[in-house]
Amino acid sequence: MPAPRRYTTDAIVLSRFDYGEADRIMTLLTPGAGKIKAIAKGVRRQTSRIGGSVEPFAELRLLLAHGRTFDVVTQVEVIHPWLNLRDDLISFGTASYMAEMAERTQEERHVAESIYVLLKRGYELLDGGMIPTRVARWFEVHLADELGVRPEVDRCVECGRLLESDEHYRWVPPLGGVLCERCPGPPHNVAGLTLEALKLLKAYQRMDVEALAALRVRPEVELEVESAMRSFLAYSLDRQPRSLAFLDEVRSGERAGERASEQAATSMTVS
Ligand SMILES: [Zn+2]
Repeated sequence: MPAPRRYTTDAIVLSRFDYGEADRIMTLLTPGAGKIKAIAKGVRRQTSRIGGSVEPFAELRLLLAHGRTFDVVTQVEVIHPWLNLRDDLISFGTASYMAEMAERTQEERHVAESIYVLLKRGYELLDGGMIPTRVARWFEVHLADELGVRPEVDRCVECGRLLESDEHYRWVPPLGGVLCERCPGPPHNVAGLTLEALKLLKAYQRMDVEALAALRVRPEVELEVESAMRSFLAYSLDRQPRSLAFLDEVRSGERAGERASEQAATSMTVS
């Protein structure tokens, strides 16, 4: 019997679940083979050589053997552990969200080099300390580009007229972007969009990531763009990612914490 064929690939673990007594099945994103499923046998035993290294949010170099159902992980080398991004719940939640978006939008065994490069860059940015919400928006806008669903932010999605800076805009995900004030538009799925939010959406499409990281933006505008991109992607991809619930919970916890400490600070000043 010939030995099973082995191959080496770089990979990022998108998700994993425990299987059987001590195994783990992982969904991996690879540059050359796209999304693949692989099994790491015995990794939940303390004696496993590769146990701790097949974690999400790290870039790994794997030696895999072709298997009947799943390819089998035989060796692991950690290339980029990106440890900093795990220290903070919001950047951790953002990393989970990006992995989930990559997993949901990619088909198995379809070459996904551009998505791999995008996810890897996103993790580098998070790990380097860029504001997680900026990394998430930057990732979403470029993922949408790669999937061929770039939102229209320059012209009206109905009449094609260039948008002017002194009109009222509406954000209409089912139509693919911004609607001008002259077009009637649909009765549902319409939200107003401020000029600042429109400018920020354009910036995400046009500016390089270093310039984006340095932008000064009011938090309300940042939130408006977040909600616009969420509704756009929910419509284009037809489902809400599960990891957003976690991210929202962590952030509302932090906001409550900030309010509590502000109140404490105020009452200290008063007394
Ligand atoms: Zn129009």
